[in-house]
Amino acid sequence: MQDWPLLVHKIIDHAALYHGQREVVTRSAEGPIVRTDYAAIARRSRQMASALDRAGFGLGDRIATLGWNTARHMETWYGITGIGAIYHTLNPRLFPDQLAYIVNHAEDAALFFDITFAGLVEQIAPKIPSVRQYVALTDRAHLPAIHLPNLVAYEDFIAGGAPDFAWKEFDEQTGCGLCYTSGTTGNPKGVLYSHRSNVLHALIAGQGDALGVRNADTVLPVVPMFHANAWAMAFMAPFSGAKLVLPGPKLDGDSICELLTNEQVTMALGVPTVWLGLLQYLEKTGKTLPDLKRVLVGGSACPRSMIETLERKYGIEVTHAWGMTEMSPLGTLGILKAEFLQLPYEQRLDYKCKQGHPPFGVEMKITDDENRELPRDGKVFGRLKVRGPSVAKGYFRGEGADAFDSEGWFDTGDVATIDRHGYMTITDRAKDVIKSGGEWISSIEIENIAMGHPGIAEAAVIGIPHPKWDERPLLIAVRKAGAVVTREELLQFLAGKIAKWWMPDDVVFVEQIPHTGTGKVQKTALREQFGKHIARAAAE
Ligand code: AMP
Repeated sequence: MQDWPLLVHKIIDHAALYHGQREVVTRSAEGPIVRTDYAAIARRSRQMASALDRAGFGLGDRIATLGWNTARHMETWYGITGIGAIYHTLNPRLFPDQLAYIVNHAEDAALFFDITFAGLVEQIAPKIPSVRQYVALTDRAHLPAIHLPNLVAYEDFIAGGAPDFAWKEFDEQTGCGLCYTSGTTGNPKGVLYSHRSNVLHALIAGQGDALGVRNADTVLPVVPMFHANAWAMAFMAPFSGAKLVLPGPKLDGDSICELLTNEQVTMALGVPTVWLGLLQYLEKTGKTLPDLKRVLVGGSACPRSMIETLERKYGIEVTHAWGMTEMSPLGTLGILKAEFLQLPYEQRLDYKCKQGHPPFGVEMKITDDENRELPRDGKVFGRLKVRGPSVAKGYFRGEGADAFDSEGWFDTGDVATIDRHGYMTITDRAKDVIKSGGEWISSIEIENIAMGHPGIAEAAVIGIPHPKWDERPLLIAVRKAGAVVTREELLQFLAGKIAKWWMPDDVVFVEQIPHTGTGKVQKTALREQFGKHIARAAAE
């Protein structure tokens, strides 16, 4: 058969030819809603590629982007990859010093940024000498008044580019995208996606029982392009010809609700905190979302109560998914298998809450610390390992090599069970697992149950040192606005739902729980703050 290289810019060509007039709607960084289509994006991507080529950028160069989900950001990706350069997404939620570290580590040659981040870019510019071209993703009228060497507005940068520029030719294994993950320890590490892995990942994730985007869908990826490729939506929506709605800088419940309603979005994707914000907004306003059929939730464990509210109260089907930057990112989905469809709702919910089973193209297993595979019985916890054509085989520049073994398995750093039906359940990050009396306690499971209490908005469980048991769980919780919940009530709520020895030794109520740049609970900060907490149970 033919050797048809899997190159990502073929996706935008396909979209232009077969779905050219399909709309792409953006809430722009400048403010207004902007409408374009796949044909225009494809044309402007070629102009972008041509402009980069003329400016002397080429194969293997890392070109950084610091941008929201917008049509312009998509054009930069296709333009960059079309000359064999590598789009390097930067996460604006990181500290400026971390960003400078990442840009220097990648030796980025240019930086494209949204005007929202002008101040941040100005701040780090003196520390990132490899960047020789700055491009603000805007037109000349909105160019920020900042002092940067070689700063130009995006519209001016691409204006001279040829709309019929011929994509460069290269192998499908060529580097395509770069994304750093904060990882568990040490400095951030880079994951370098190839053209082949990105195309295969989009095809894998596009399966009917995975993200399964269809032409008739209108998709809103709230999950950012700077975090794990927006779960492939910049590739999957164009190749399906789905209408794409991009939220730009505004990710609050009000703004998301407005886009969902006005654009008649049928499918939306994001981390649990986004849906928490949206649900709070819906509760407050009494609004509903009749067009929205499906919500994909991942990036952190989705609380059972969230799935139930979205499904039962609002009639929106929830798919809970697990993945990570190193996996492009999709790993598993809590999609119901045929044999469970007739179960009563509560039992179906048990399966939907799990992180789920992998689509074809992702292999997984759990092992003990000696790398012996553990049984798939739904009870034994082990280190979760994965492999497949869209899983990293190493980090950029060879760091963190101990996470990869000689048989190609990548140790995810997650601890999980797998049941006999193949459903995987994450019980913890390996570093967050609570070891009590030599046994493991799942912090995620306790958090999930606590968040099911009607007065609790968010909960996190950490291990605190204990002289006899080594560690004991401490529950840290945020009350919903106006709710009155006591320590005793919350513990009573947990009783009977978890093993007795899993019961937290104490509960601390806080105003808010700290989150990382990618929206996960920052357990290191909680451990620092509450590591010396003396449980009331122990003090009594
Ligand atoms: P990142 O590379 O930033 O996307 O982080 C990946 C990590 O997020 C995984 O290794 C998990 O620890 C966590 N994660 C992602 N999705 C889920 C989920 N559905 N449930 C629990 N943890 C998750």
